[in-house]
Amino acid sequence: MDETRSSDRTRDSQMEKRHRYIAQWRKDHPENVRRMHERNRTKNRDKIRARDRVSHRQAREAHPAKFQKKDAKFYADHREQRLAYQRAYAATHRAERTAYGRARRLKLKGVFPVALLVSLEKDPAKEHTRAQKRLQQSRRNARKRALPATFTMEQREFMRQYWGFACVYCGNQDGFVWMLADDHFIPLNSPNCPGTVAHNMLPVCHGKGGCNNSKRFSHPHVWLVARFGPQRSRRIEAAIAVYFAVVKQRESH
Ligand SMILES: [Zn+2]
Repeated sequence: MDETRSSDRTRDSQMEKRHRYIAQWRKDHPENVRRMHERNRTKNRDKIRARDRVSHRQAREAHPAKFQKKDAKFYADHREQRLAYQRAYAATHRAERTAYGRARRLKLKGVFPVALLVSLEKDPAKEHTRAQKRLQQSRRNARKRALPATFTMEQREFMRQYWGFACVYCGNQDGFVWMLADDHFIPLNSPNCPGTVAHNMLPVCHGKGGCNNSKRFSHPHVWLVARFGPQRSRRIEAAIAVYFAVVKQRESH
């Protein structure tokens, strides 16, 4: 017992000696200490910045009034730079700004959420990938129900062109307010559904009050009559029958 204690004491005093030595060395060599600091800062720059960001944010949240004054002063002192930056940004981001402004005005009218409208302005390559992903999901949904799942991007493109990039049912154009979704004419949950195949897929408007949002899993005939009346439904169903015949021919080649 005593031995351990005395060895602890020796170790403690050795540690103290060491600490005193280091403290003294640091006092005697301020230049070295500064250089070491600098080296550390460079080495751990990203870590230090991340830590500072967090602590700055916390300080801002804790003392909003203090920072309000500071910010106001900064903005006043840098007015010219800020205006120049804004002008440069506006000049290089023209398309985004126009799209955003248009989307915002429509949003204010209560037509559609901004995010979706802005997404419509996105580049065609991204839109293609997005459509591809949706199509894959739609095929997966068919496979889950053990239904055929052969609808391809090429067939989808043919479909959209055939119908003039408009909704099969009501004629709404693909654009700002509605976008065209790929609709299963006979819904996947119906026992007679042929699956995610070209002769069951149609471009249908999706958006506020859109046909796709209204139809969902309804029986197509019942839904058409309820939405468009018997006469118009007959015409629509006849046009769809012609299209499905064309598509089936394409499929058999
Ligand atoms: Zn429609």
